[in-house]
Amino acid sequence: MKDRTLLMIPGPIEFEPAVLAAMGAPTTSHLDPGFVEAFGQALERLRQVFLCPDGQPFIVAGSGTLAMDLAGANLIEPGDRALVINTGFFGDRFGALLERYGAGVTHLRAPVGGLPTLEEVERALKGASFKLMTVTHVDTSTGVVADVKGLAALARRYDVLLVVDGVCSVAGEELRMTEWGVDVALTASQKAISVPPGLALLVAGPRAMEAFRRRKTPVANYYADWGNWLPIMEAYEARRPSYFATPAVNLVWALNVSLGQILEEGMEARFARHRALSRACKAAIAALGLEQVPLKPEYAAHTMTAPRYPAGVTGADLLPRVKAAGAVLAGGLHPEIKAEYFRIGHMGPTKLGDLLATIGALEAGLAACGYTFEKGAGVAAAMAAWDEQG
Ligand code: PMP
Repeated sequence: MKDRTLLMIPGPIEFEPAVLAAMGAPTTSHLDPGFVEAFGQALERLRQVFLCPDGQPFIVAGSGTLAMDLAGANLIEPGDRALVINTGFFGDRFGALLERYGAGVTHLRAPVGGLPTLEEVERALKGASFKLMTVTHVDTSTGVVADVKGLAALARRYDVLLVVDGVCSVAGEELRMTEWGVDVALTASQKAISVPPGLALLVAGPRAMEAFRRRKTPVANYYADWGNWLPIMEAYEARRPSYFATPAVNLVWALNVSLGQILEEGMEARFARHRALSRACKAAIAALGLEQVPLKPEYAAHTMTAPRYPAGVTGADLLPRVKAAGAVLAGGLHPEIKAEYFRIGHMGPTKLGDLLATIGALEAGLAACGYTFEKGAGVAAAMAAWDEQG
């Protein structure tokens, strides 16, 4: 039997062979003309993927949490007020991070699987003078997708900077930075951007860069300071080598390959494919009789699905059996419901066949746990939902 499983967790995901080949190529100097070209091109392509033609991209070695730090450290000064639209684990993280830089943080929470309404957000914005609002576009701990477009409109009305944690969304979930008026969007390489873990990616729009330039106090994080990175990004984009801290050379090569593939597919087609995969996955989950964490279908993200275990089945029973049948899925993450649900990632290069294999493995796992259902119903529902979408 082949020792091969599908990695279908909400990051890291399965990567394309050309991206992995770039990772495995001999490492070049960070000053090599070929690398300078790849880095410059990757910066230009990031603007296109984030749909932010007038934004300033940053590519820095680190994970998604560093991308959050790049936003918090550079935009918060001690005493600033921040509103966190909190839909789970990563909202808590953003709040804690902003407090570390001296912000007074207000969390606007919803019950697990829910989403604060725009009316509640507007009431909070009216009630205090915030410099910045953050939102987790897709909270990976709940599978809830926020209404970034609606929040951006409110941010503009109340003159607040909007920072979007797009770690589980960018290049999968629809996100239009300039058109919607998002000030900062950030992500990491290992999810829908489709590059192994190790890069923090951020695009800052003009209002965010202006807020950074108007700072009165030094940035309280040396490595994350945009003042250190901006000249480097500008130099590479002008195809001049430059140095502040050694870039993750192979990852940047791989990033440029992946961004090229993403743009070749096209952002609209990519958003549509993620929506289609998501509908197929959720149809399968419903057909198998499983509930989901998001409280309403319209709250459910398109990059992942968060099904609840059926009665009598635990993660310790199910997930190893699904893995034995060929697909690695993730357990729960949200502390309040950790043992009650699991997570399926379907982002990046995922194809219908990957999803059908995953649903098949899930069915095999459920059957092995003694759960009663109509065998094949999940796969059939996924295919039917896919077909309906043309
Ligand atoms: N935000 C969200 C929404 C995430 O899903 C994650 C990672 N799962 C992070 C932030 C943190 O990213 P990293 O683990 O790469 O530091």
